[in-house]
Amino acid sequence: MRAEDAPLIRLEDYRPSDWLIDTVDLDIVLDPTRTRVRSQLQLRPNPAGHAGAPLVLDGDELTPDSILLDDVPLDPSAYSLSAQGLTIHAPPARAFSLRIETTLDPGANTKLMGLYRSSGVYCTQCEADGFRRITYFLDRPDVMSVYTVRLEAEKTQAPVLLSNGNLVAAAELPGGERHFAVWHDPHPKPAYLFALVGGKLDHVRQDYMTADGRKVELAVYVEPGKAGRAGWALDSLVRCMRWDERVFGRNYDLDVFNVVAVSDFNMGAMENKGLNIFNDKYVLADPLTASDGDYASIEAIIAHEYFHNWTGNRITCRDWFQLCLKEGLTVFRDQEFSSDERSRPVKRIADVRTLRSTQFSEDAGPLAHPVRPRAYKEINNFYTPTVYEKGAEVIRMLKVLIGEDAFTRGMDLYFERCDGTAATIEEFLDCFVEASGQDLAHFARWYEQAGTPTVVASGKYDAQARSYKLQLAQSTPATPGQSHKQPVVIPVALGLVGKGGDLPLTSISPALKAGGVVVLDQPSLSLTFTDVPEAPTPSLLRGFSAPVRLELDLGDSDLLTLFTADSDSFNRWQALQTVAMRTLVRAGKGDMSTLDATASALGKALSGFLADPALDPAFAAQVLRLPAPADIAREIGIDVDPDVVHGAHRRLSAAIGGALAGQLADLRVSLTDRGPYSPAASPAGRRALRNEALGLIALGEPASGARLGLAQFAEADNLTDRLAALAAMTLIPGAEREDLIARFGELYAREPLVLDKWLMAQALIAEDGTLTRVKGLMNHPAFSLGNPNRVRGLIGGFAANLTQFNRADGEGYGFIADIVIALDRTNPQVASRLLGSFKSWRMLEAGRRAKAEAALRMVQTTPNLSRDVADIATRSLA
Ligand SMILES: [Zn+2]
Repeated sequence: MRAEDAPLIRLEDYRPSDWLIDTVDLDIVLDPTRTRVRSQLQLRPNPAGHAGAPLVLDGDELTPDSILLDDVPLDPSAYSLSAQGLTIHAPPARAFSLRIETTLDPGANTKLMGLYRSSGVYCTQCEADGFRRITYFLDRPDVMSVYTVRLEAEKTQAPVLLSNGNLVAAAELPGGERHFAVWHDPHPKPAYLFALVGGKLDHVRQDYMTADGRKVELAVYVEPGKAGRAGWALDSLVRCMRWDERVFGRNYDLDVFNVVAVSDFNMGAMENKGLNIFNDKYVLADPLTASDGDYASIEAIIAHEYFHNWTGNRITCRDWFQLCLKEGLTVFRDQEFSSDERSRPVKRIADVRTLRSTQFSEDAGPLAHPVRPRAYKEINNFYTPTVYEKGAEVIRMLKVLIGEDAFTRGMDLYFERCDGTAATIEEFLDCFVEASGQDLAHFARWYEQAGTPTVVASGKYDAQARSYKLQLAQSTPATPGQSHKQPVVIPVALGLVGKGGDLPLTSISPALKAGGVVVLDQPSLSLTFTDVPEAPTPSLLRGFSAPVRLELDLGDSDLLTLFTADSDSFNRWQALQTVAMRTLVRAGKGDMSTLDATASALGKALSGFLADPALDPAFAAQVLRLPAPADIAREIGIDVDPDVVHGAHRRLSAAIGGALAGQLADLRVSLTDRGPYSPAASPAGRRALRNEALGLIALGEPASGARLGLAQFAEADNLTDRLAALAAMTLIPGAEREDLIARFGELYAREPLVLDKWLMAQALIAEDGTLTRVKGLMNHPAFSLGNPNRVRGLIGGFAANLTQFNRADGEGYGFIADIVIALDRTNPQVASRLLGSFKSWRMLEAGRRAKAEAALRMVQTTPNLSRDVADIATRSLA
């Protein structure tokens, strides 16, 4: 079916299911090509549905081998089959049972949805609608059932058999060659949370006692021989379970909790009840094969999936329009966990960088959509930064607006009231209305309105009156389908900074709330602060209190004051970013006139900053990193020439790197750790700063950069430092670089997850030869279009290369379009994600814009596209 033919599913068309399924008994005999699935469903009419309605079960690429209703074979005239499933025309108007048998070929399932085999391991992925690829079902999240699953397999092929819930029986079958396991999950759940795993796997395990006294057996399963790399994931699991007990009062609710790592996986990980399945990239870690960033991601994603047990599993979504109910909230929870485990300001800066680069760019392009979309053709295309990251920002704002105590009471009420249900955003918000006594109707607009609001701020100090008048105005640009925007509720956390630090905030304006938060909920607002003893510098949007763009009328010298004097770490970082961004935007449009002066001002500010004995290395690493070329391009927003933008970024970085080269080199020496590698936040922070410094030196003084980079590679005892050396060397063309690339590739020839990074480092080289290099690397023995991680590393890396994906000759677009078309035949989800790389095409200058559009049209007009790819192509061109 093409996207134009696919039905548009609308939120307002939601109605409850006509039928409910109370219990599901699955009997699955695993076989690489002929897996037999026997499903027994106990159905009854839903009192909230239409009486006498037909039973329409979802099914995708299935044919039933047999259908029995109340143990009697169903007459073929009683049902019909279509590409969408199975309809029983006149089921009995009472409870009844249905037994359906199907046969699957897991080995041929390249879509990696439903049941498939990855490196000899049977596994499943059912969110959003993969369960219908296993058996016929009411595959919608508001149908929640109790599952009992019997798995059977050859012992040599699948000695480990796992499913959701608790293990209730397991034994060998007569003859000793086959065995079975029965799992029972007492918690009713939607089909998208079903999972099974069967295969040869090693594991690490640990007992855990919950705060309410339940003994839980935790285990992390990995490919044979890799158990030595599973310890960090297990450790992270224990820490996040304790944290959720302490911070949200949530205890785990089964006797086992299993995590399984598989090597072919479309997403990051999946929160199936009691049996989380992970992309192995987010489980496996040791110092020589995982970077500090990987350790942090593993910790965050293990926590994210675990936290879903309450926010997603016990309380699930009524329909997929409510996806942000589980995702935005759970991202917020994992961000808070990582902030408590590591440095809160550094985590916030990193999250805001991600938000701006992924979500703001989505909001600014043709794929913009609200946090809660109102219509979709393919739900798999809505697992987006807007639903996840902006969804988390909405929760964060809610907490700022109603205060910590009311937020905690609201969460408790939500857990109590909605437990065991499939809920909506409205039901969630009602809990906070009750807990806070505040009207949140206006705030709820964040869920409905797409686009990134801009807040324009200006201020004036009256020395005689000792008052400071601040004016704020908001606007949101039009997005597809939403031409007129309404004001939203924007919490602006602020301070007034004087020579000696923060000044007191006194105002009679009702817009000023406790904790220095001004609530901007109108198009504009003006408020006056009194008893201000000196001309202040306003520090606005502290901690990035709302996901908006801020334009403020501060000069560079005021911003540099904030950089040194602001008590808010986020705004210290932001002040320097703003100084750099302004010049980079100007230079990115071709006006280089302020670049040298800004380089010198930034160099001076950084030099003083780096000399501070109380320097926090992790924070300093963030400060040293200038806005990325893609962020500069997004700020320019129109008629962008990526080569000019990239050139401006290089020139400013090189000027700063050159001016500070000596100081940075000394700093690197002082930051060197002599002890064994530890992934803890503090040594990771020192490595981050050393490696940022290396990158700047490589641009400022390539000869010293190469010398330091090669030495670091030779001495490194961990992947972080090796990768940083490789990244620095990719900035310096020449034989030494090529030699290092080759040596790195040989060193890690048998480590696919490290090779992904190696492929990406090469795909990101901002030089004309990169496209040829990438095409050559597709022939590398480790590369395969069938593995999503390899595709994301090499092809995804190239698509993120601002100058080379956007080559003036259009070859970059053609290359990606060809791969999207090829990949769509086997794995539509990965193909449509890759096509999303075109999301910013409209901001380009006319020549590139035309070539990008032509490539998109070529994709769009390809026959037999999947719904996933057709939907993205059509929306991108709309
Ligand atoms: Zn999630």
